[in-house]
Amino acid sequence: MNMNPKLMNNIRQVTPYTPGEQKSEAIIKLNTNENPYPPSPMVAEVLKELKIGDFRLYPDPDSKELKKTLADYHQMDQGQVFVGVGSDEVLALCFLTFFNSRHPILFPDITYSFYRVWANLYNIPYQLQTLDKDFRLIKYDYYKANGGIIFPNPNAPTGIVEDLDFVEDILKENPNVVVIVDEAYIDYVGESEGTGTSAVDLIPKYNNLVVVRTFSKSRCLAGVRVGYALANSQLIKYLEDVKNSFNSYTMNLVSQKVAVASILDNDYFEKKIEKIISTREWFVKELNLLGFETTDSKGNFVFTKHKECSASFLFERLKDQGIYIRHWNDERIKDYLRITIGTKPEMDTLLEVLKGLINTA
Ligand SMILES: *Cc1c(COP(=O)(O)O)cnc(C)c1O
Repeated sequence: MNMNPKLMNNIRQVTPYTPGEQKSEAIIKLNTNENPYPPSPMVAEVLKELKIGDFRLYPDPDSKELKKTLADYHQMDQGQVFVGVGSDEVLALCFLTFFNSRHPILFPDITYSFYRVWANLYNIPYQLQTLDKDFRLIKYDYYKANGGIIFPNPNAPTGIVEDLDFVEDILKENPNVVVIVDEAYIDYVGESEGTGTSAVDLIPKYNNLVVVRTFSKSRCLAGVRVGYALANSQLIKYLEDVKNSFNSYTMNLVSQKVAVASILDNDYFEKKIEKIISTREWFVKELNLLGFETTDSKGNFVFTKHKECSASFLFERLKDQGIYIRHWNDERIKDYLRITIGTKPEMDTLLEVLKGLINTA
């Protein structure tokens, strides 16, 4: 249909985020960093106890039980927790609430591609900061006038983690803007390095810090859409006010209950984390034996390139065989593949197929 140009002037046109494919043909799905394991059995228990009559009423608009459970887990006050429909919703609301300057917000050139989409959606000016040749953030890039800062730690899709001193330096240099640390993958950093890497410990010290987490990766619950933000209660209040000006009932009652059950089963959570980390460590060694070069990923994925075979070749041939991984045609990372860590048997199959492809290439 031909649209009248004057009508078009009144319509917002945006380029949306493109998520990894959700294909039923996928035999092995390693393209969206989902967890290969089911959620805790306590989640199944909660679902069994649900009564259909419960659906008649609106859910708790304040998700009080979930906030309390998360507050206890992090040893914080309930007023320091904001919950949303996946961390994507939490992050979108953070952009709307905290990024309102005429100065550009700053984030890395290679990072979660949704940041750019939200900045465009809300007409927030932004400036990309180029990672160095080893895909590290350069902290001095974030020491200039800006309207706010956001980065994931560990970063995606590189998996590289910056230490807590790095995060603290950025907070110290930017007292007048909000700094958001997206910790979607922090649980996978691991024991020795992991303790003390999360910016959550800095919240009492810095009133400009917001930490965002998700249930989609380490908690095996991508399908229920739960994420949250932690910060001082003042910032959380502003976030709540924006959310309640948009939709009071964002989080449905099933998601609220399921998320609580997941947090309460900490044993299960820790066992699954350990499994993914040990599979990752083993898988990286195997990949490197096949001639891959892999970043030091602390996520539930690896970021890797082969010394001879092109990434697009491997990506397409794997897809032909029903193995889905992720590849971007972006100039700086077009040689790389991002592969989610699945179960050990899934990774074994992938390695066998990769061996065949590399030998015939
Ligand atoms: C997966 C991911 C998210 C979004 O997760 P939700 O499923 O919306 O909770 C946010 N940030 C990063 C860096 C991610 O990788």
